[in-house]
Amino acid sequence: MLKLSNYINGEKVPPLSGLYMDNFEPATGKVYSLIPDSDDQDVAGAVISAQKAFPSWSSLSNEERGEWLMKIADKIEEQMDLFAEAESKDNGKPVTLARQMDIPRAIANFRFFAQAITQFSSESHHMQGVGLNYTLRQPLGVVGCISPWNLPLYLLTWKIAPALAAGNTVIAKPSEVTPYTAFLLSEICTAIDFPAGVLNFVHGLGPKVGEAICVHREIKAISFTGGTATGRRIASVAAPMFKKLSLELGGKNPNIIFADCDYKTMLQTTVRSSFTNQGQICLCGSRIFVERPLYEKFKTDFVEKVLELKMGDPSDEKTKSGAIVSESHMNKILSYIKLAQDEGGHVLAGGERKHLSGRCEYGWFIQPTVIEGLPFNCRTNQEEIFGPVVTIMPFDTEEEVLAYANSTDYGLSATIWTQNLNRAHRLAEKLESGIVWINCWLVRDLRTPFGGVKNSGVGREGGMDALHFFTEAKNVCLRY
Ligand code: NAD
Repeated sequence: MLKLSNYINGEKVPPLSGLYMDNFEPATGKVYSLIPDSDDQDVAGAVISAQKAFPSWSSLSNEERGEWLMKIADKIEEQMDLFAEAESKDNGKPVTLARQMDIPRAIANFRFFAQAITQFSSESHHMQGVGLNYTLRQPLGVVGCISPWNLPLYLLTWKIAPALAAGNTVIAKPSEVTPYTAFLLSEICTAIDFPAGVLNFVHGLGPKVGEAICVHREIKAISFTGGTATGRRIASVAAPMFKKLSLELGGKNPNIIFADCDYKTMLQTTVRSSFTNQGQICLCGSRIFVERPLYEKFKTDFVEKVLELKMGDPSDEKTKSGAIVSESHMNKILSYIKLAQDEGGHVLAGGERKHLSGRCEYGWFIQPTVIEGLPFNCRTNQEEIFGPVVTIMPFDTEEEVLAYANSTDYGLSATIWTQNLNRAHRLAEKLESGIVWINCWLVRDLRTPFGGVKNSGVGREGGMDALHFFTEAKNVCLRY
């Protein structure tokens, strides 16, 4: 059986404890590889190697570090199919999605920050007749990058790339649920002779490895993406140590549809924004608010399109809806569907676990589910489900829908569908959300600030925000 290893100081190494955990293929429900069950000793070793590597890595020119990132990107691209198949097997997502979205985006992350760092500049502030201030932006040292299972390589590289570009050395902890593509990335580092100790992967459980990263004194910053409860725990550990923290957390995103929208584009996009990656994207719109004159038509057409989504083996090129990432997550989603019914919701499509035949007989599949008849403030509409479940609700006025949209503790993203651009911009300004899409969804420019408000997070990733996070500003003042 495939046995993954840690990657520390440029070498593939087993966990010091010698312990391993099972890694499952969601589509079959079977174990297909073993992951290191690392602990604080492995993290401590990784930090020593990262500290040793820091002086030489941080003193390379920005262009030289950029060239290393370009080499990594090129190698991933050469192995596109291997990476896409690995991501699909590990996570349960359709292989076509991994090939079209996850892996290209991981490549783009490296290329984007390889170039961005060559354009990185800092400010100067003149004091007329008195003197001059200029800002140095220096790397922090060793930083920790902790990522979730839903977009495994995509989100891990979204952190690693800017951290490395800015001159830091990195301890990365991929999700224990989906460690495989991070392992393949460490193989690429070996293949291209990436400088030892600059990037280290320590695999294992959150409360062991993740927590050891957060409490380690020599790790200067934590960039985390994952659930809100985990983010709260990390903040409680790392904030008193005055570490820099970037927290990208959960969401419960509204999708607001007005009757004057471009109906065809809205409908197609709403199917995607509801169910891409089995609804396991933090940006999916899980609460769909439809202006009343359009509600019945939307309901009929939407349900029809949802029922057409082909659920199946993620390795099948025709599959549009794959498996749920783990058995426990599947059970959590099913418990929310039950809650929705207990709260008075009516299931219009899906609602159940699906048993496929053949290879995927014991896989973890849930039919794309649409529920109506729930009030905006019930638990189903307030708590993050993070699965293929959406609710649809009618509304009458702009004020009303704004109140519904802003009613949760979350504030990651929102989508607005209308041809009335005055209204769209007016709403965009008032939505409590870090990201607003008007007449589109998941259109991403990597230069823009990415992150949430309220319980969806603290800080922004992307573009210069990421480079600012991974550097410390120092003001130097000179008196004439
Ligand atoms: P999770 O919080 O369970 O795990 C995320 C990572 O944190 C994993 O690597 C895990 O091992 C680690 N971890 C767990 N406990 C830890 C601890 N005590 N200390 C340090 N690290 C710890 O999240 P998940 O289930 O992997 O991912 C799903 C969640 O991620 C959802 O809530 C989703 O909304 C969120 N998410 C947010 C964004 C965003 O950009 N805001 C993007 C993707 C996913």
